[in-house]
Amino acid sequence: MGMRVTPQALNTMDERNLWDDPIRRYVLPAAADREPVWHTHPEARRDSLRETEMSVVEGLVWRYPTKALIELAASCPLYCGHCTRMDLVGPDVPAVTKRRLGLRLNERLDGIFSFLAATPSIRDVVISGGDISNVSPELLEAFVTRLLAISHIRSFRLATKAVVALPQYFFQDSVLRTLERIARRARSANVDMAVHTHSNHVASITPLVCEAAARLYDVGIPVIRNQGVLMRTINDSAAALLDLCFALLDACRITPYYFYQCDMIPHGEHWRISLHQAQQIQSEIMGYLPGFATPRIVCDVPCLGKRWVHQAESYDRVLGISYWSKNYWTTIDNLDEVAPTQHKYLYFDPIVELPPDGQRYWELKQERDGLVGLAGVGGASNRQPLARAEDHDGHNQKQGPWRIR
Ligand code: SF4
Repeated sequence: MGMRVTPQALNTMDERNLWDDPIRRYVLPAAADREPVWHTHPEARRDSLRETEMSVVEGLVWRYPTKALIELAASCPLYCGHCTRMDLVGPDVPAVTKRRLGLRLNERLDGIFSFLAATPSIRDVVISGGDISNVSPELLEAFVTRLLAISHIRSFRLATKAVVALPQYFFQDSVLRTLERIARRARSANVDMAVHTHSNHVASITPLVCEAAARLYDVGIPVIRNQGVLMRTINDSAAALLDLCFALLDACRITPYYFYQCDMIPHGEHWRISLHQAQQIQSEIMGYLPGFATPRIVCDVPCLGKRWVHQAESYDRVLGISYWSKNYWTTIDNLDEVAPTQHKYLYFDPIVELPPDGQRYWELKQERDGLVGLAGVGGASNRQPLARAEDHDGHNQKQGPWRIR
């Protein structure tokens, strides 16, 4: 990821100990933060969720039967090192040329709306990217107006980290008036809407964040929810998550919603925790928050989608491989001769967290397969020569090793 940090985010860091600061650790990542050996899981990809393969038209990702994701912008007010959409979001960096939305905006939007209008099974749309605060209010309003004209769209969500990373954006009159009109139109059309934001640590929740949330509620936004990412050394304890959730609820009226397991991205192993650790944290936070505000910790399984961490069908804790299934087909599947539930999709724990037998398995597998996922940062690792950045993209891997029958 490129780096972009707002003054708001800088001001939430502890300048006396930046090295250990939880915000710094994902907003200003350092090469020295990374795992020295297994810094990249062999199954990691820049497009870790295979969203490119699941795009039915440019800018529309269709991963679930009734829900679609719109990539309206490819930039954010602040960049997270762990970004799940790192293959698209943000500027090119020396090691990586990013995927680009190639169509002109009008053509892209026409394609998106033609597809949505012709697909009545899609009833819920997430408008994201990127971040909706990085498109003009006029474009956002025009987009939502077209969306509301499709009668089978019953809900939409506006995704923006700006509530937390750039709350001043929502103090602008033009932005607030636009959101007020959007909320009014959604209400008139009897379409549900929400704003979803993204905070990972209680240190992010400042008076300005609360003020931004209050202004959004004042102009008629019905609900603001938070989706965070569960990350090692940043928020991987029940206490850290509960601190954040109570601050969101009590100070800002933002509803805790999801915490995602950090995705399997290159050079992200120092942020990831094992599935069993996530399951333990989920169990420990139960009973403290109101039910509607008790976040679910979810694993976004490649080619499958979000699943609650306790939904794994089986789990080999030594090898760090969990097996999941889905109860529907999507566009990425072309296997209609077999029931969807019979396919298994795989998720992998970080290798550094495995017991010695598990680590040995992956060492031998790497020696045998000559995997490319262990590239060093700014130089060769002590296991493999530096891989080309393109080796991580996996764009053409329709039938990856993550899926078994
Ligand atoms: S706010 Fe979301 S889309 Fe933007 S860089 Fe962070 S994780 Fe990626």
